[in-house]
Amino acid sequence: MNMTQAPLTKTTCPYCGVGCGVAVPSGAERNTPVAGDASHPVNKGRLCSKGSLLGETTGLENRLLHPMRNGARIGWDEALDEVATKFSSIIAEHGPDAVAFYVSGQLLTEDYYVANKLMKGFIGSGNIDTNSRLCMSSAVAAHKRAFGEDVVPGCYEDFEEADLVILVGSNTAWCHPILYQRLLAARERRGTRIIVIDPRRTATCDEADLHLAIAPGADLALFNALFCELAACGASDPAFITAHTEGLDEALDAALLAHPSLAATAEACGLDPDTLETFIRWFAETERVVTAFSQGINQSQSGVDQANAIINCHLLTGRIGRPGMGPFSLTGQPNAMGGREVGGLANQLAAHLDFSESACGLLARFWESDRIASSPGLKAVDLFDAVADGRIKALWIMATNPVVSLPDADAVRKALLDCEFVVLSDCIAGTDTAACADLLLPAVAWGEKDGTVTNSERRISRQRAFMLPAGEARPDWWIISEVARRMGFADAFAYGSSADIFREHARLSGFENEGSRIFDISALSEITDADYDALSSLQWPLREGGGTARLFADGGFPTPSGRARFTAVSPVPRAASARFPFTLNSGRLRDQWHTMTRTGLSPTLGSNAQEPEAEINDLDARDVGIEDGGLVRIVTEYGAAIFRARVTAAQRRGSLFVPIHWSSENSAGSGAGRLAHRARDPLSGQPAFKHTPARAEAVAPLWRAFFLTRTEIAKPQYGYFARRRVEGGFLYELAGIGPGDGPPDVENLAPAHGAVEYVEMRDKHAGALRQAALLGGRLEKCLILTRQGALPPRDWLIGLLASESLSEEDRRTLLSGRGAGASGGEGRIVCACMGVRAGAIHAAIASGAADVAAIGECTGAGTNCGSCRPEIRLLIAQHRKDEAA
Ligand code: SF4
Repeated sequence: MNMTQAPLTKTTCPYCGVGCGVAVPSGAERNTPVAGDASHPVNKGRLCSKGSLLGETTGLENRLLHPMRNGARIGWDEALDEVATKFSSIIAEHGPDAVAFYVSGQLLTEDYYVANKLMKGFIGSGNIDTNSRLCMSSAVAAHKRAFGEDVVPGCYEDFEEADLVILVGSNTAWCHPILYQRLLAARERRGTRIIVIDPRRTATCDEADLHLAIAPGADLALFNALFCELAACGASDPAFITAHTEGLDEALDAALLAHPSLAATAEACGLDPDTLETFIRWFAETERVVTAFSQGINQSQSGVDQANAIINCHLLTGRIGRPGMGPFSLTGQPNAMGGREVGGLANQLAAHLDFSESACGLLARFWESDRIASSPGLKAVDLFDAVADGRIKALWIMATNPVVSLPDADAVRKALLDCEFVVLSDCIAGTDTAACADLLLPAVAWGEKDGTVTNSERRISRQRAFMLPAGEARPDWWIISEVARRMGFADAFAYGSSADIFREHARLSGFENEGSRIFDISALSEITDADYDALSSLQWPLREGGGTARLFADGGFPTPSGRARFTAVSPVPRAASARFPFTLNSGRLRDQWHTMTRTGLSPTLGSNAQEPEAEINDLDARDVGIEDGGLVRIVTEYGAAIFRARVTAAQRRGSLFVPIHWSSENSAGSGAGRLAHRARDPLSGQPAFKHTPARAEAVAPLWRAFFLTRTEIAKPQYGYFARRRVEGGFLYELAGIGPGDGPPDVENLAPAHGAVEYVEMRDKHAGALRQAALLGGRLEKCLILTRQGALPPRDWLIGLLASESLSEEDRRTLLSGRGAGASGGEGRIVCACMGVRAGAIHAAIASGAADVAAIGECTGAGTNCGSCRPEIRLLIAQHRKDEAA
C-alpha cells in the first residue's frame, strides 16, 4: 500500500515511554509496514528500530483468539460468569483483600481506569498493582516527597534547550532512542554537553563528553556530594529557595555527613577525583541543566532517596520548570504515566488522590460507592507473596508476564500454580504466565485498541485502531466492565466506548479539585466522541483547554505549604558477599521489548542480539576462566541460568549484565527475573534489579549445535537453548550441559511427516554431525552439531530456507559445514531500521567508507533512528585494529 496516498490512522507506539506518533494506512492488513507520524510533536516522523518494525508484529501468530479454560475453548459469557462468580464468592467468604489485580503499563488509560475503579471503588480493596512498580515507582515516590504530587516538571524540549544533559542510570540511546536523537540533533546546533552516569559503558556513552563509570549503588553518594559542593561554591539560588522550598538545612546536614571530602566520595563512587570534580564544576557553571534518570536510579534499594538526591540539586539551584532545566524521570513503558493518573499503583487512588479520609470521601461521592478501599493495597512483590501464602486466593493478571519479569520469578510461577484461581487477560497466548492461568481472556492488541496513553512528559496521545480485533478479542475495559456488571455493579460500569471512560476520568480529575491537585484534565470532561476521535496530543494539566509544558518555575508546589521539600538522604552501606562476589545488573537491549512476546515476532529485530548474553569484564572473565562466546552460568541465591558470554571492557569489574527479555518460552530459562533478588526500596517497593549479588562460572558444554527449521518445535529439553525467528522459520541454538543431555538428531528434534529425504554427514573423529531433511527438494530443517570444533555461520543456511529446491552445490556445502564466505549481505543485523547486516558494513569499510556518515551513504545504515551508530563506530574501530595487527 502506498503510504503517501492511503488515508492514515494516527496512533502511538506501544513500546517505550517516549510515546512516538505512528501512521498506518487506514484499514491496513496485518503486517502492513508503518511509518512515523510527521505531525506528532514527539518524533516528527521518526521511529526507532522497534517502532519502524511494528508492522512485522501485527500478525496472528501466537495471538490468544478465544476465551480458554485449562486449554479448552469456551464462550465469552461462560468465561465472564466464571470470573465474576469466583471473585464474588471468594470476597464473600474471605473479604475483599483475598482478591487482587496485577495490571500493566501496556494497558490504555481507559482500561486502567476501569480496572482501578472496580478494585478500589467497588470491590473495596487496594490490591491492584502494576508492572510499572518494577519500572518507575521510586520516581513516583520521590516526586510526591519533594513536590507533593507525582509530577514531572519538564518536557522533551528541555533536552533540546539545555546546555548540559546528565543521563543517570539510563541507556537512553537504546531505551529512549528518539528522545536521544533529539538530544543529539540539538547538540549539533548548540554544543550541548552530555554526561552519562552508569557503571557500564553503554551505547549512550558513545556521544558523551564525560562518562562516570560509577560503582553500582553509589549514585546517592555522588548526588549528595554534588549537593554539598553546589551549596559551598555559591551555585545556590537563594531567591528560589527562600520563596519556594523548605527543609534545606536538614538535607544539607545529612548530605555533608555523607560527604567528608571530594577524595573520599570519589573513592566511594569508584571514580577518579578529577572526573568527579569536572562533573561538579560543569553542573555548577551551567544554568541550563537537565538531569534525566531511569531504571539505574529507580531499581535500587535506595531508589527513592537517589531520585530525591537528584531533585535536591535542582531545587538548590532553582533549575526547575524553566526552559532547558529540571530533573526528568524517563518512564520505561508507553503508559506508565497514564496508569499513575488513574491509581494503577496499589498505594494511590485515582486522579492522584492518596488514601486520606477526605480523598476516599471524594471518590465515594464521585463514584457513588460506599465500598471505597480505605488503605493501600499490596505492592507487586508483596502481592505475589500473598498469593504464595494463600492470603490472596484469586488473581486477575492483565497484559503482563510476571512469571518472567518479577524478581525471584520461579517463586512467582509456583505461587500462581498453587493459587486457587488465576485469570489472565492478554493478547498473547503462549507466555510463561499463560501456562499458569486457569482462565485466559483474549484482549485486543495494538492496532486493534482504542484509547489514550501518557508519555514521560505528561503528554496524552491517542492510540487508535486500524484493524479489526483478532478472533474474539475484546477491549480490556469491556472485559472488566462485563465482569463488574456480573458482580452487581452494572450502573457504575455502563460504558459504551473508551470515550465514555475518558470523559469520566477527565471529570474526576477536576472534581472538588480547586487547584489542590496538578493532575487536572477537566477541560476535556465534555469532549464529544468526534473530538475524542480527533484528539491531538496534549500535555496535562489542561485546565483551560491548552496543555502545559513546564511546571514549578514560579513555585506552586501542591504541598500543604505550597513549597517544594528538600529531602535529607544518606547512603546505606551494603555488605559484600564472599559467595556472590559480583553485582548482577539487568536491562533492555536495543531491538527488543519486555519478554519478546511482540518484538520476538520480527526476524529483523531478532537478528541483532541473537541469544541471551551475559556481559562480563575481560579481566574478570580471565580470572573465572570464561571465554568470549562460550557459556557462562550465573548463580544467585534465587536461581541459576546459563547465558552466552560476552567478554567486554565496557563492563565494570565486579559487575555482570544480563538482558531482561528471555523467558522459558524462548530459552532454557535464561530469564533475568529468575536470578534477581527480592530486595526492594522500602518506600516505593520497587525491586532492586540492578544490584543482585551473583557469581559467574564457566560452563564447558558436551556438545554445541544449532537447528534450523521451517516450523516451530516443542521446547528443546537441553541445558541450554535459545530460540529466535528467522526469515522463513526458526533457529535454535543448543548445547548439552549435563549427563542427561544426549546429542540430538534431526528426527528426535522434529519428527518428520511426509516423504522426507535425509542427507547426513558424520565425522566420528571430530565429533561432528550435519543432517538435513528435504521435502520435495526443499530444505525443511537441518542440524549442525559439534563436540569440539567451530559451528559455521548461520546466515547462509537461513538463506537456503528461501530456496524452492537445493542445488547439488547447496547440498555439498551444507554437509561440508563450510558455509558461504563472507559476503555483503551476511552477518547479524546492525541497522534494524534499514535491514543492514554486519557484512554489508564490513564491505563498505573495506571499500573506503571511513566514518558513520560514509557508511550511511553506502548502505543506508544509521540513517533512520541512529541507535546503531555506536555499533557502526565499533565495527570501524575493529576494522582499523584488525588492519593494524
Ligand atoms: Fe516506540 Fe522507539 Fe518511539 Fe520508543 S522511541 S516510542 S520504542 S518508536
